[in-house]
Amino acid sequence: MENKKYVYLFSEGNASMKNLLGGKGANLAEMTTLGIPVPQGFTVTTEACNKYYEDGQLIASEIVSEIHSKMADLEKITGKKFGSLENPLLVSVRSGARASMPGMMDTILNLGLNDETVEVMAKLTNNPRFAYDSYRRFIQMFADVVMGVEKRNFENIMDNMKEAKGVKFDTELDANDLKKLVVQFKEFYKEDKGAEFPSDPTSQLIESITAVFRSWDNPRANVYRRLNDIPGSWGTAVSVQEMVFGNKGDTSGTGVAFSRNPSTGEKGIYAEYLMNAQGEDVVAGIRTPQDISQLHKDMPKVYSEFMAIVNTLETHYKDMQDMEFTIEDGKLYFLQTRNGKRTAQAALKIAVELVEDGMLTKEQAMMKVDPKQLDTLLHPNFDIEELKNSKVIAKGLPASPGAACGKVCFTAEDAKARHEAGEKVVLVRLETSPEDIEGMIASEGILTVRGGMTSHAAVVARGMGTCCVAGCGDIKVNEKEKNFKIGEITYNEGDFISMDGSTGNVYAGLIKTVEPEISGYFETFMGWADEIRSLKVRTNADTPKDTAQAVKYGAEGIGLCRTEHMFFDADRIMGIREMIVAKDEAKRRVALEKLLPMQREDFIGIYEELAQRPATIRFLDPPLHEFLPHDDQDIKELAIDMGITFEELKATVESLHEFNPMMGHRGCRLAVSYPEIAEMQTRAVIEAAIDVKTRKGYNIVPEIMIPLIGEVKELKYVKDIVVRIADQIIAEKGSDLKYMVGTMIEIPRAALTADEVAKEAEFFSFGTNDLTQMTFGFSRDDAATFLKDYYEKKVYEFDPFQKLDQVGVGKLIKMAVELGRKTRPNIKLGICGEHGGDPSSVEFCHNVGLDYVSCSPFRVPVARLAAAQAEVNNPRKK
Ligand code: PEP
Ligand code: MG
Repeated sequence: MENKKYVYLFSEGNASMKNLLGGKGANLAEMTTLGIPVPQGFTVTTEACNKYYEDGQLIASEIVSEIHSKMADLEKITGKKFGSLENPLLVSVRSGARASMPGMMDTILNLGLNDETVEVMAKLTNNPRFAYDSYRRFIQMFADVVMGVEKRNFENIMDNMKEAKGVKFDTELDANDLKKLVVQFKEFYKEDKGAEFPSDPTSQLIESITAVFRSWDNPRANVYRRLNDIPGSWGTAVSVQEMVFGNKGDTSGTGVAFSRNPSTGEKGIYAEYLMNAQGEDVVAGIRTPQDISQLHKDMPKVYSEFMAIVNTLETHYKDMQDMEFTIEDGKLYFLQTRNGKRTAQAALKIAVELVEDGMLTKEQAMMKVDPKQLDTLLHPNFDIEELKNSKVIAKGLPASPGAACGKVCFTAEDAKARHEAGEKVVLVRLETSPEDIEGMIASEGILTVRGGMTSHAAVVARGMGTCCVAGCGDIKVNEKEKNFKIGEITYNEGDFISMDGSTGNVYAGLIKTVEPEISGYFETFMGWADEIRSLKVRTNADTPKDTAQAVKYGAEGIGLCRTEHMFFDADRIMGIREMIVAKDEAKRRVALEKLLPMQREDFIGIYEELAQRPATIRFLDPPLHEFLPHDDQDIKELAIDMGITFEELKATVESLHEFNPMMGHRGCRLAVSYPEIAEMQTRAVIEAAIDVKTRKGYNIVPEIMIPLIGEVKELKYVKDIVVRIADQIIAEKGSDLKYMVGTMIEIPRAALTADEVAKEAEFFSFGTNDLTQMTFGFSRDDAATFLKDYYEKKVYEFDPFQKLDQVGVGKLIKMAVELGRKTRPNIKLGICGEHGGDPSSVEFCHNVGLDYVSCSPFRVPVARLAAAQAEVNNPRKK
């Protein structure tokens, strides 16, 4: 058997090998074949990473040999020798997963330096400052990433030196300073680790590759993956690339570029760079970079070559590119390219314009927008009137759009803690780093003092759709004392500020927000999504207002109206409580009489908003603990309303206590015990439908849905009540109204016996919240408290209440679809659990042949796009 290949030279790969070489490795290979100036190297595959974990976190000896052999090839290609004292080859070691995870894993630059090779580099380049600057960076990165000595320690040593010398910037340290710094760094390392800093380039290399593999599993990478649906099984590749140097002096530099504006999508190259710097300086945002137009003035030839390559790459990849480049002694190199992260606004504009320019088909364009990003478009903006009266206290770069207000926090931990306590927070930092990810997720907005539009904060916030203002030098942050100053005014932790990520403005206090307008590119793009998809998208809405909102966002009907939610309002909840605690049928009927007109009015409002769109009305399913009065005050009020004593009512409430209310007397079980509830609800639905049909002429066919059935006889029992009452009302009113009766599949037994259930049900709607709860056997209310241990211990990668468990719960759905269709070939099938708005779950629903998904109003556009993408990936339309 031929040995598996784990290491590829750039010249051996291409863009289609992304799964094996990671995005970075595949694109470096592709750029090599395109003839773009790329420093050469090789990529250790994602399969090698997976094997590393399978082998108990060890790189197998055959892979190590392959790495050595590719290194020998690289020596031939470059004419340099790794570790040699004549012409030493230095390399970078960088991670690159299949999906880009900016800043989540580790990078090591200038590898191959030691006390001897640094001297050779100093002589060869005639630039000792450069050589020692590279060496101190290497020590710092290697110690941090590979050996776990925090880089903060080295930064402190360097800050001390700058302070002693009375200078501000790293660039003001000369060769001698840096040489001394290297000695101090190594001394610190030795003290900390109890061993000399490793000087053998070969072991530096293998240790670094190991560290990148290890970083695939670091906590921030795990958090990022969970947020972005990236499975741990993908692994990361590692690219080893010949170093080129942007820190060689004034004709060297490094930068990042986007082929279009990543914030707005505007056509035109968008790039920033720093002279005499290495890549990390630009991304870390320690110095604020220059706009690329400056390069036009300083190095016109390099500038035009740069512009030509950027255009070539965009045309080649047919997408907006995010690139890293370095200029070494006036020669330009591209270090990587990838499809750039962008705001939702930019994504839509770019996708539409690429179609209009003939570069993409509409189907291809669908894949250029991440469905999850769309809901960022639907987030609120500031109220114009309030904004007029608000004073701008500072201004930074508009790094990621949206409006945010919240209490100021200065650390990721504080932001997370306050968020968990239910407060809205804004994270204010000098600059962010990947360790801040959890705090960034918890924040409404992120404000940084340093950094450009491509800083970590900006890139990550844009990806998350979180408002971000970066590079806001107007504020003086004191992270230790947890405050910032603007002029004489101090803002402390816990003070409210507001910020606008589209203008870069920061305001004192709280500004009211309003719903956004959607139009233009959004409409065009979503129109195409609707043309393409076959899966319909409905919404979960319980009020006329939510219904109107969802229709505006493109909902094609209601997939779930939770009728018990119609009683959440303070002035209504008493009615439903009275019904729940009623001692006998007569008292219950009194309570139901009060509920009937409210419910009928709501249904009328909903039918009117829907015009002729279909609506599935789910009969009452109140988990008792959500509806029973909890404290004595509530019990007192209700007792007065009902004309009974406090003690009597309290005893009833206690008698209704359930140990596990989610598995208790809810759903159809209530209607089985108390048929009068189903009678009242049928009356409300049917009378409302006849009313609107008569007045508006809409062709309404109510879909009455019986929840939580596990046995067909339960369904039949309730259905018989519905049919009896409905037919009676229709006859009385002389109407020709048609209606349907169906059920939810949310108990595993219902899925297992779906062929039986379908004898009575005209439609199924998968209630995957309960189906997940009952299939896993853990409570949807409590699981979050221990699921975090499961993520940590890698028992689960994702929350099964957010992302459908296709293996287990999915198997039940598939089975129920097949069994249901066997009995009733034209049975209507949908999903109304939270998963209906989750892109990967929507794709699953498409693939198993459901007719529609239903989700909350704000996620309707997400589901529309996810459904279009599913159609492109697996066409169902003939
Ligand atoms: C479900 O269980 O998936 C569902 C939609 O019903 P509810 O969330 O109201 O229990
Ligand atoms: Mg349910």
